Amino acid sequence: MALLCMIGALGACGTEPGGGDAGHLPDAVGARQDASGADALADAAVQDVPGATDAAKPGDTDATILADAAILADAAIPADATSDADATSDADATSAIDATTGADATSPRDAASPADASTTDSGLPPRCTTRSISSPPLTPLMGELFLAHIGLEGLSIGEATVAQLPDGTRVLIDVGNDSHARDVIAAVDSFFGARTIELMILTHHHADHEDALPDILDALSVGTMVHRGLTDLTPAANETTVGRVCAARARTTEVELCTNGLRTCDTTAWSVAATGCPGLPYSAGFGALEILAANGTANGMSLRPLLTQDNNGENARSLVGVLKHGAFRYVFAGDLTGGGSNTDAVEAFMVSQLGARLPPADVLHLSHHARDTSSSTPWIEHLLPADGRPRHAVAGISSLHVGSPHALVVRAVEPRLNGGGLFVTRVAATGESTGVIDARGGTVRVQTFGGGAGYLIQAVDDTGTVIATHEVSSAGGCVP
Ligand SMILES: [Zn+2]
Repeated sequence: MALLCMIGALGACGTEPGGGDAGHLPDAVGARQDASGADALADAAVQDVPGATDAAKPGDTDATILADAAILADAAIPADATSDADATSDADATSAIDATTGADATSPRDAASPADASTTDSGLPPRCTTRSISSPPLTPLMGELFLAHIGLEGLSIGEATVAQLPDGTRVLIDVGNDSHARDVIAAVDSFFGARTIELMILTHHHADHEDALPDILDALSVGTMVHRGLTDLTPAANETTVGRVCAARARTTEVELCTNGLRTCDTTAWSVAATGCPGLPYSAGFGALEILAANGTANGMSLRPLLTQDNNGENARSLVGVLKHGAFRYVFAGDLTGGGSNTDAVEAFMVSQLGARLPPADVLHLSHHARDTSSSTPWIEHLLPADGRPRHAVAGISSLHVGSPHALVVRAVEPRLNGGGLFVTRVAATGESTGVIDARGGTVRVQTFGGGAGYLIQAVDDTGTVIATHEVSSAGGCVP
């Protein structure tokens, strides 16, 4: 059944008892932390970023963000506190690619040093270059980071991404709607050639991100399932969807990032506020994947109250994560809201709380299918800073995401890409197409090279024909 992610339709709840630890963790993901706290690797991954373990410092943010942080300070409460608010909150390639700089006859891929992405072999920083190249369809490479946003079509909206971390860990980020399982499984077959997924990340409890779960679990062996927790559910979430997550406990190793301690599939428990987020930060793949925030909580602070309306209540609780390799950073945040269309400004809160722990993105996933609820100014300014580096943005959009990408989002992002481009799985009806690279229902793929010194981003249509490939050699910093 197709359910718009803004629609909190209520339905029958799956009530399978929870609590399974049936999944087997392969060595590749054995370094991840469990729900009880960060392990040494997670700590190391966090602490190698200046200011990583502290609250946002003035030096972390620009004036705009600081101003927003000041406004938000009153709304932030410790994650462990229980407030009245909590208790009541049940609740074709027409890109700027021609702007290529640095006319270097040597391929940037050759010039990049895997050992130090910030310099070339000559010891000088690389030039900021983005260029359009010819390339066969990108596929996973051991030792590099790969991800693909899957075009999900049919009668439902939906979003799903497959990824392979440099250590070989295979990841799903969201699984699409119930009609999309076949597409997701086909992508897993195509990219991995094996029906095993070590790690499944669910960004939030909406049908277009999670409803394919039963069919996915029937077809694939899934090791660990990570989600924000079965807490703080408002009518904006869908009980059928949440029931499917609860039922999946018996078929995976579950990590609840935030918890109310009840761990039950009784629907009445799901609206109880979280008492903390012991699963944050979460790390996997030797630090290649990090989840920094979830359920409106980051850095031990929670933004409360959150609006409970359909267009906000569950989207606002989306988790915030980073995929990284070498100097390369990809940031994703599900359908996180930024204040547009009467939603909560959770993006600004996350920026204020996470500071430098939330790194500028080489490739930024645009939240909520590039709708205008998201990609607020503080978020875009923080993640796509005006430093002259080429950057890219990507959005998972299906044909029924009418109006996506939103023109306001495209126009806000475009000037900050410095010769990069905005790639989408599809431009939906009435969506903005000018300046957007449209995979026309196919995939948008990203593959790092040189140990994360640079990356390729590519649109491939649903027949497997490559529409466009951009190559960026300067993920580690560059001279404009
Ligand atoms: Zn969605």
